[in-house]
Amino acid sequence: MKSRGPRYALIKRQVTKLLSDAGVTAPPVPIEKIIRSHGIKLRVADLGHSASGVLVRGEGSIVIGVNRKDPRTRQRFTAAHELGHALLHDGDPVHYDPGFRINLRSDLSSRGVDVEEVEANHFAASILMPSEFLLADPDAFLIDAEDPEAMAPLAKKFGVSTLAMSLRLSRLASHNG
Ligand SMILES: [Zn+2]
Repeated sequence: MKSRGPRYALIKRQVTKLLSDAGVTAPPVPIEKIIRSHGIKLRVADLGHSASGVLVRGEGSIVIGVNRKDPRTRQRFTAAHELGHALLHDGDPVHYDPGFRINLRSDLSSRGVDVEEVEANHFAASILMPSEFLLADPDAFLIDAEDPEAMAPLAKKFGVSTLAMSLRLSRLASHNG
């Protein structure tokens, strides 16, 4: 079993570099473009009801699949989560992510068995909702984090679900990064 904790500082540096290389300075982050710029193919696929995402590593090619049935915001988060796996982890040739594994609350996922899933979720949240963008956004300060309706415009601006935004803001408030 892995004994190390999630590499939050490494992920922060990596995300900052990816956004800088892609010239992204405002939301929504073009995650598809960033994925393709790494030579990774992105497919919207029929993954049934069990999986939100899949990462397939072939010889010299990597393909990310996101579930056609999921909402657009979910597909974006899943794609970012799988990019995190592709960049951070050596993995099996085929890695399936069931929906429940993606975008878990950090308090639950930190108790989870697999630090790689915690890292992939943190990578996805960090690249889709960069702390610099949120800290520069007055809307993010004035929001009632308990109110999903109040969260909606900010979530829409970043192309994420209100749940993902809510988790990200509470993490930034408690961990500052
Ligand atoms: Zn995963």
